[in-house]
Amino acid sequence: MLDDKLKSRLNFCTTLPSLPAVAIKIIELANDPDADIGAACQYISLDPVLSAKLLKTANAPLYKSRRVATNVRQAVSILGTHSVIVIALSFTLANSLMKKPASSNLLDFDNDMFWRRSITSALACRALGEKLNLNFLDDLFLAGLVQEIGILAFSAIMPEEYGKIFSPTVDHDLLLKKERETFGAGHDELGCALLQKWHIPDYIALACIASHNQPEPRDLGPNLQSCVAVSRYLADYFLYPQETEKMTALTEAAKNWLGLDDAALVDVIKLMEVGLKSIEELFDIRIHHTAEAAEIMAAAKELLIIHSLSRVKELEEKSQRDGLTGAHNRIHFDETLRREFNLSVQYNLPLTIAIIDLDHFKQVNDTHGHLAGDSLLVTVVSTIYEQMRQDDTLSRYGGEEFALILPGTTLTASRSLISRLKDAIAAINYKLDNHYTIHITASIGVASNEKDATYFYAPMDMIKAADSALYAAKHAGRNQIIEWSP
Ligand code: GH3
Ligand code: MG
Ligand code: MG
Repeated sequence: MLDDKLKSRLNFCTTLPSLPAVAIKIIELANDPDADIGAACQYISLDPVLSAKLLKTANAPLYKSRRVATNVRQAVSILGTHSVIVIALSFTLANSLMKKPASSNLLDFDNDMFWRRSITSALACRALGEKLNLNFLDDLFLAGLVQEIGILAFSAIMPEEYGKIFSPTVDHDLLLKKERETFGAGHDELGCALLQKWHIPDYIALACIASHNQPEPRDLGPNLQSCVAVSRYLADYFLYPQETEKMTALTEAAKNWLGLDDAALVDVIKLMEVGLKSIEELFDIRIHHTAEAAEIMAAAKELLIIHSLSRVKELEEKSQRDGLTGAHNRIHFDETLRREFNLSVQYNLPLTIAIIDLDHFKQVNDTHGHLAGDSLLVTVVSTIYEQMRQDDTLSRYGGEEFALILPGTTLTASRSLISRLKDAIAAINYKLDNHYTIHITASIGVASNEKDATYFYAPMDMIKAADSALYAAKHAGRNQIIEWSP
């Protein structure tokens, strides 16, 4: 909450630029639900610069209009009254604030950088709305534009104190945290208060706050707040695509708050590219240096595409792994065995599988608890992995049962590996927190199709054979290996 000191500083601040008359008139219109085309045209026509900008906007590729506006009234009829008021507000606010930097006392404050970022956020916010088929694109633009206005307010009302915590390069979320610690409120609340002081409609003013407070995942859904929240990260990425943490922040935010994946973000960046030139002209600012712009935006898209591909791979890989131990799961085992089995039949290659079942595992749980049992399973798996060769696959077949597939391996060739495995498991000294050490052994059943001696004609038959060998190993006293024989 803004305390009284901060409030009165804001109210009596003399270093904040005041709004020009035309801006005040437009704000009045924005608050008037019955504002009509005539009134909007009348005020806008009073300001030749604003009129020219509005005409340009109506004719900009952003609006995809088939008609060309040659005067303000036509522009209004193309854009609609509400849009015109909101667009005019964007221009007058940016224009009056950009020209007169809030304060020159704040050493590190880079006015140009501030507006580059704000205008990029506006462009980003609008592009998000366009991708999501929202029909209030101009509101999105304005809300995106003013979301950081609190930084301007801070630097105007307390340049010295703010200068101590502000730095243009500091991570934005960190800045907000420092502001809250130092002043009891962040630039989100101060920005909102400033906009309310200017009588900017509440739904825009409140977007400042919403953009800095991460929406609850349950609020997921495209609305003004969630778009503004994501636009901040999108603008940062659009400006600095090479900084990897900016992409991570963006992709997380877009996924959680708008349900947009990486591919959708590439489309959004393309939409931003379409609008970039006219926005730069209209606001008389350079977002990217012309020479580098194409390269930077190509990189932004490419990095996202690479990220999206690696995520797909990661998910695919994850879906084939067991969550506890990291070994492959049953689905992966079934697929791999089927594939290796077919290859071995087709090319007359040997194939060996082994099923490993831990002995008396139930006792471990009963004596030391299920959690200790879980961590022991993890240790067993990493022990097995230490012994395995690259082409072999280990899967968690059931609770404390694992299956090994050894492609191209004869029964004889499998012996040394499997016996090493058995010994390594028996050698585990698993230390509990209470200094008690657990030991475990395993019984192993093995089945092979040899070169020129095919015993099994389906993967399932091979599993059944290894299982019956395992059963025999249990019966013979456990901690041993039994090979299936015809
Ligand atoms: P043996 O195989 O030597 O005949 O005895 P066992 O006690 O290992 O055999 P059984 O198949 O009867 O019991 C397996 C136990 O493994 C039962 C279950 O509590 C435990 N288990 C299975 N999956 C997990 C798991 O994910 N975590 C833990 N902690 N225990 C598990
Ligand atoms: Mg078992
Ligand atoms: Mg067991």
